[in-house]
Amino acid sequence: MSNLVRYFEKLYKDDKENFYNLVKNNLKNKKKMFIVTSNPETFTYGEKNDNYNKLLMDQNTTLVADGISIVKSAKMLKYDVKERITGIDLVTAILKIGNECGYKISLCGARKEVLEKLLQVIKSEYPNIKLGKAIDGYASNLDDFITNVSKDNVDVLLVALGIPNQEEIIYRHLQEFKKGILIGVGGTFDVLSGTKKRAPKIFRKLNLEWLYRIFKEPSRMKRFYQNNIKFMFKIMKLKK
Ligand code: UDP
Repeated sequence: MSNLVRYFEKLYKDDKENFYNLVKNNLKNKKKMFIVTSNPETFTYGEKNDNYNKLLMDQNTTLVADGISIVKSAKMLKYDVKERITGIDLVTAILKIGNECGYKISLCGARKEVLEKLLQVIKSEYPNIKLGKAIDGYASNLDDFITNVSKDNVDVLLVALGIPNQEEIIYRHLQEFKKGILIGVGGTFDVLSGTKKRAPKIFRKLNLEWLYRIFKEPSRMKRFYQNNIKFMFKIMKLKK
């Protein structure tokens, strides 16, 4: 079986409400969980990098379909994946749960001013969340930071460094954590802090969020081609 097929086998297939409930239960039961919000770039990188492949297949890891291409590809390969579970919706759901239950959350990533804005947003909109340590994603001592966070008994650690760094840094320290939901969350700090706009509803409804991001940041085009177009060809080959 190819690694790509293994990722689809492992992918969480139920809907997002059930997934949020699973996260809620794991938080309640202090069960450690490493969530990888997956898109074609995630799977493509796993195929060519042994360590990344290992982290995707780790028993603590849950893969969820962030990108619409993952949902569509899964369907082409006859896996019944109900819907997307985007990083941004997941983080929003976790902030709500955190506020309800008074959980402790640490943040790592994004530019300093983005992180500071996000901390303000959390303080004012989710006042019951206990904010743990936080660091921007351009500091030089991120590994030390994660080790310190692991000693802090946090319930959630959100890491926004982009693929593959965010997953790799979590995985390097995974064994140091006794509990906690650990997630690589890509560009979500930029959006939740109000620094970047999320795609308008119509783009989201039509599953064209990726197109909006390319419009806004044309430099993403090359990355998009390398990861998504090539990925779809691979899936079509697997389908045959
Ligand atoms: N980032 C960071 N440190 C780095 C490189 C990136 O903190 O060395 C942050 C960047 O500021 C952004 C996030 O990582 O907030 C990645 O965003 P991107 O939109 O590229 O991620 P995607 O959602 O596409 O995976």
